[in-house]
Amino acid sequence: MARKRGTVTARSRRPHQLHPSLERILCISAHPDDNEFTIAGSVAKWTREGRAVVFCLVTSGAAGTNEHTPRNEGLVPVRERECGEAAALLGVKDLVFLRYEDGVVEPTLGLRRDLTRVIRRSKPDVVVCGDPTVRWYGSEYLNHPDHRAVASAALDAVFPSAETRYVFPELLAEGLEPHKVKEVLIVGAASPDTWIDIGDTLELKGAALRAHVSQIGSGTWVDALLGGWAAAAGKRAGIPYAESYKRMIFGRAD
Ligand SMILES: [Zn+2]
Repeated sequence: MARKRGTVTARSRRPHQLHPSLERILCISAHPDDNEFTIAGSVAKWTREGRAVVFCLVTSGAAGTNEHTPRNEGLVPVRERECGEAAALLGVKDLVFLRYEDGVVEPTLGLRRDLTRVIRRSKPDVVVCGDPTVRWYGSEYLNHPDHRAVASAALDAVFPSAETRYVFPELLAEGLEPHKVKEVLIVGAASPDTWIDIGDTLELKGAALRAHVSQIGSGTWVDALLGGWAAAAGKRAGIPYAESYKRMIFGRAD
């Protein structure tokens, strides 16, 4: 059915406010600093609004070093601590580390089961994850395979696994009943349709990213980078600074 294209565009490109009933938000990411590069402005806004946000990190970022050491386990506690410090700045109290091996994550049934377990335990109204279909951004960044793998498993965990009783029946044996997620926000989406105003939290986003000292050093470039991205996203929503998403809606938010 044909729709008036201009009408849809005008309506969808206003900044979006999450419905007040969406109180619990689970953000699923591959690496300890992914949230601070992407969604941290929205996260800080949501926690300020009184919503409970949980971070689930699939790896603990052991490969995030250029030091030529035989093994990198020494980096795991550092990165988990930095992740916790960033999360605290953003008002996030709950972190889940699945501790998959960094750099070689695949969208396996095992990962889908683990993410289904996290969803059934934390019972989010909203899940935030990446876009598994994106292979590159612009001309200078190939999307990390861990990002794609985690995003793919996360979406499959949301549907059908988390809400279907007899997918992963072993989770029932753990006492984890099915849970239906109401909305998904896909960050870094190929076709964003939802913009969150982060004008009041952009500065905090930069501070949270600078908590990842092992990755970004002094981080003098952080504010310019994040500000540029937020301004580009904001331009599409008619506001100074935004983070953009593709929004999926599975149930009425009331
Ligand atoms: Zn990453």
